[in-house]
Amino acid sequence: MIPHGATAVVRDENGAGQQTDKVAASGHPRRPIIPITIAFIVLANIALAAMLVWSSLNARSLQLENATISTANTAQALADQAHSAVKMADTILVGMIDRIENEGLSTPQALRLRRIMTEHLADGPGLQGLFIYDAAGNWIVNSVNPAFEGRNNADRAYFRYHRDHPGRGPLVGAPILGRASNAWVIPISRRLEHRDGSFAGVVLATIKIDFFRRVYRRLDVGADGDIALALADGTLIVGTPFLESDIGKNIAATPAFRAIPATAPKGTFEATQDGTVRLYSFTRASGYPLVLLVSRSKDALMTGWRNTTAAVSVALFLLIGGLAALGWRLVRQIGLRDRMERELLDTKAALETTNATLASFAYVDGLTGLFNRRYYEQALERELQRARRLGAPLALLMLDVDHFKKYNDHYGHPTGDTCLAQVGEAIQRGLRRPGDVAARYGGEEFVVLLPSTDMGGATAVAEAIRAGVEERALAHAQAPGGIVTISVGVCVLVPSDDDDAAELVNRADAALYRAKQAGRNRVAFG
Ligand code: GH3
Ligand code: MG
Ligand code: MG
Repeated sequence: MIPHGATAVVRDENGAGQQTDKVAASGHPRRPIIPITIAFIVLANIALAAMLVWSSLNARSLQLENATISTANTAQALADQAHSAVKMADTILVGMIDRIENEGLSTPQALRLRRIMTEHLADGPGLQGLFIYDAAGNWIVNSVNPAFEGRNNADRAYFRYHRDHPGRGPLVGAPILGRASNAWVIPISRRLEHRDGSFAGVVLATIKIDFFRRVYRRLDVGADGDIALALADGTLIVGTPFLESDIGKNIAATPAFRAIPATAPKGTFEATQDGTVRLYSFTRASGYPLVLLVSRSKDALMTGWRNTTAAVSVALFLLIGGLAALGWRLVRQIGLRDRMERELLDTKAALETTNATLASFAYVDGLTGLFNRRYYEQALERELQRARRLGAPLALLMLDVDHFKKYNDHYGHPTGDTCLAQVGEAIQRGLRRPGDVAARYGGEEFVVLLPSTDMGGATAVAEAIRAGVEERALAHAQAPGGIVTISVGVCVLVPSDDDDAAELVNRADAALYRAKQAGRNRVAFG
C-alpha cells in the first residue's frame, strides 16, 4: 500500500507532476503557418494567372492596334499616290482645255499641242497617253502616235458621258483596254465646249494600271494582306493578288465594300470575307471617286500573339504546378514536424509520469507500503531544519516488534512478513496528520516522524499505534501474552543548532530499549 499523500509529496519534491499537468492542460494548438502557407501559394498562383490573362489581353489589343495603324497608314499612302497620279493627269487636262478653248485647234496649234502633250507624258507618273477628240468622237490630237489620228472613239463611255452631260468636272472612268497601247488604263476625261456652251469634244488622259500594280507588288502588307483600288461605285481598278480578269469587276456587293461608310474619308473596320474575319482600312482620294482598301486576315495577324500566349501559358502552368507541388510538400513537412513535435511532447509527458511513479517506488517499502529508510532519513533532516527554523517541537517514535525472532522461528519467515505488513498497517492507521511520516527502518523496526508535535501529542500517537497492534490480536504462540505486540521509544525535541539527527535517534533508541527492559508492549520516553 502506498502511504496516504505519498504521491503528492514525491511530486512536490521534484516538480515533475506539475510540469506533466501543464503539458496536458495546454494541449497542442494547430500552427497558423499551414493555412498561411496554403493561402500564400493559392494567392500567388491566382496572381500569376491573373497577370498572364492581363498581359495577354494587353498584348492582343496592342497587336490589333499596331495592325490597324499599319493598314491605315498603307491605305493612306496608296490613296495619296493614286490621288496625285490622277490629279497630275487632270491638271494637264485643265491646261489643255484652257489652251484649246482660247486658242482653237488650228493646224499649227494642234502641232504645238501634240508637242506639249508628249512632253507632259514624262511629267505624270503612270501617264499612258493624252488625247483630244472632237464633237463626233474623232481622234484630233494624241500623244501616242500621230498615225492613230482619224480613228473614232464615240463609242467610249467617257465620250458619251461628256456629250450628254454639260458638267465641266473631271470623269474618272472604269478601266479600259487602250486602243492605242493595248494596255489596261484608267481614263480621266473632261468636256470641251464651244463659246456658246455646246459640246465640242473630249480631252482624255489615261493612266496605266500597271503603274499601280508595280507599286502594290513591291509593298509588303504581310502574306495575308490585300490591296484594292476601286472607283467609288465599286468598280475594281487593280487589286492584289493581281488577276487581269478582276480588272473592271464590280465589288460593290462584297461585305467589305458594303461596310465602307458612304461619307467617311477614311476608317478601319472588320468584315467577314470568304469565311475569314479581316481587318480593313480604307481611304478615299479627295476630289476623285477613288477608294483604296487594305486588308489583313485577323487570324493571321494574331498568329504571333497566339503562339507567344500559348508558350507563356505553358510555362506559367508549369510554374504554377511546380509552386503547388512545392507548397504541398512544404505543408506536408510542416504537418509532419507538428505531429512529431506532438508525439515528442506526449512521450515526454509519459516519461515524466513514469519517472514520478518510479521515484515514488524509490521511496516506498515494498512489504509494508510505508516509506522506506532512505525517505525517512531525508524527511528527518528536512523536518529537523524546519523545526529549528520555526522553533517547533519534532517527535520521533522508534517501534520494534516484540519477540519477533521467536515468531519467525515458530511460524516461518513468510508468515513473519505478513505479520510485518499487518504491523505496518496498524502504524499507518495510528497517524493523525498528513505531514506525519511512518517508515520501515529495517527488519521488524519502524520509525514515525511527527512534525510540530509535543510530548503529549507524541505519546498519544505512540499509544494509539501500540494499542492498534495489540487490538489486532495476531497470534504469537511464543510470546508471553500469546499475541504480537510492539514496544515504542518516544523522543520529543525542540532542536537547537547543535542538535542533529543522531541525537534524536539515539534518544528514541534509548527510550525503546527502556520500553523493552520494562517488559515490552509499552511506550517509554527519552
Ligand atoms: P525483542 O523483543 O528484544 O525485540 O526480541 P526479538 O526477537 O524481536 O529480537 P530482535 O529485535 O533482535 O529480533 C530481530 C529478528 O527479527 C531477527 C529476524 O528473525 C527477524 N527479522 C528481521 N527482519 C525480518 C524480516 O524482514 N522478515 C521477517 N520475517 N523477519 C525478520
Ligand atoms: Mg529488533
Ligand atoms: Mg524485536
